[in-house]
Amino acid sequence: MPDVRHSNALPIAQDALQVVQHSACIGCGACAAAMPELYQIEMNDYGEYQAIGGQQVEPTDTNREAFAQVCPFSGGGPDEDDIGSSLYGDATANEYVGFHRDCYVAWVDKNNYRAAGSSGGMTSWMLAKLLGVGEIDGVIHVKPANSPGERQLFHYAISHTLDEVRAGAKSRYYPVEMSSVLSEVRRSTGRYAFVGVPCFVKAVRRLCLVDPELDARIAYCIAIFCGHLKSRAFAEAIAWELGVEPAELETIDFRHKLYDRPASQYGVKLTSKSGETLEHPMQGLATKNWGLGMFKYLACDLCDDVVGETADISFGDAWLDEYRLDPRGANVVVVRNQRLAELVAQAFQNGEIEGKPLSTKDVYRSQEAGFRHRRPGLAYRLWAREQRGEWSPQKRVQPDAHALPPQRRRIMDVRVQLADRCRAAFVHAKQVGSFQTFLSEIDPLVTAHQRLSRRGLWLRIRRKLSRLAKSFFKSPGDGGGQK
Ligand SMILES: Cc1cc2nc3c(=O)[nH]c(=O)nc-3n(C[C@H](O)[C@H](O)[C@H](O)COP(=O)(O)OP(=O)(O)OC[C@H]3O[C@@H](n4cnc5c(N)ncnc54)[C@H](O)[C@@H]3O)c2cc1C
Repeated sequence: MPDVRHSNALPIAQDALQVVQHSACIGCGACAAAMPELYQIEMNDYGEYQAIGGQQVEPTDTNREAFAQVCPFSGGGPDEDDIGSSLYGDATANEYVGFHRDCYVAWVDKNNYRAAGSSGGMTSWMLAKLLGVGEIDGVIHVKPANSPGERQLFHYAISHTLDEVRAGAKSRYYPVEMSSVLSEVRRSTGRYAFVGVPCFVKAVRRLCLVDPELDARIAYCIAIFCGHLKSRAFAEAIAWELGVEPAELETIDFRHKLYDRPASQYGVKLTSKSGETLEHPMQGLATKNWGLGMFKYLACDLCDDVVGETADISFGDAWLDEYRLDPRGANVVVVRNQRLAELVAQAFQNGEIEGKPLSTKDVYRSQEAGFRHRRPGLAYRLWAREQRGEWSPQKRVQPDAHALPPQRRRIMDVRVQLADRCRAAFVHAKQVGSFQTFLSEIDPLVTAHQRLSRRGLWLRIRRKLSRLAKSFFKSPGDGGGQK
């Protein structure tokens, strides 16, 4: 069981302890927003927010039930399908994309949204549109903390103006929690759009079900697709590899557009406390491969929602061959809410935004690796956890040893080990003041992953070639049935 260290943790209630101790806490702050006397959120030594105990130790039965209902990884309460069908039950359902009315590939060249955004700028455009037409009074999203000397570079905050919304553009691959901002929202009078990765949106949906005051404030939920959430160590490791020590990192843009290469080969731009500015393609860095899951919250390995199925609209990267080559970037968009479907369709008609409708098959294709990791991959990981006697929350995917072929199972085992090893290796590297120590400690697992992946690729090519050969030599009368 991983050792989660907190500076001054109070004893934590048993139900949350189970989630935290079994690496299922994403540190979103839903429990602390619902029951601040019982739960608080604190950053651990690995640079991850986690739930800790509050002033009161023993939860009542009502509190226990409330925890199960709001925590997105408790395994209790409504799941993504339940929430989706209660909100958009009249829309079309899809196993991967969830309920949906329309899917698009889209971008917004006008007013600099695309240039200023991570992908096509659609998320900031949608938020600005909602503010402009008076559907909302503010946006709850993740922005630079902008307090000099602060270790925490980004946080959830509220934007009330168009300029503030636009200044919040870009993806933050960084730990955030929402308990403070939700308290602020509850005390306010307006209506807001909430932006989050899928588990945060699910948590907000669940909070709204038990908290009428919050429900009245949250007018729309907007999701950004998610591969996994990163700890603070991800930003620090990027900086350190470029020569800026972790404590010296001042600002970071994780999605700096490089106009001489494909959108998928974006760069990183950062500044140090001494005023130095550095730019570098992610390609050349040790942390570039998201498939390795470096600095991933371990809870992300228990998630089965890639696109944010409980959100009114979801935005991701158009990682499709037709669009990934364009360095300007493009979004995949999944619309579930009727009003938002109208606003998006109108904007296409009047030329505010560009793009075209997309099939759910193409949405799947744009996130193929993510879906493989979250569905058959999750089924295997759940089974492996069962074998190790670890608790796991109830998921929509069932534990299954055979969900993956043997080669993929070995890759998955290495990834699980690497995600864990990475955390301790980085803490150790900071203690001894050497980035090289971090690289050396993870090297055996990175090498094993590379070797297995190369072999896996070769096996996939061989299977494909053998299928092609079979269909080529198939006799006309064999009916094409399986032998
Ligand atoms: C941790 C993480 C993992 C991701 N993984 C994938 C993936 O696997 N596949 C994929 O296609 N896309 C993924 N994305 C989404 C992608 O990076 C873009 O954010 C998305 O395509 C929207 O781009 P845009 O140009 O429309 O957004 P922009 O116009 O740049 O606006 C982005 C909006 O999102 C808000 N935001 C940024 N970071 C966060 C955060 N951590 N939590 C809540 N709100 C935030 C910003 O405040 C801003 O309002 C991920 C994003 C994050 C944060």
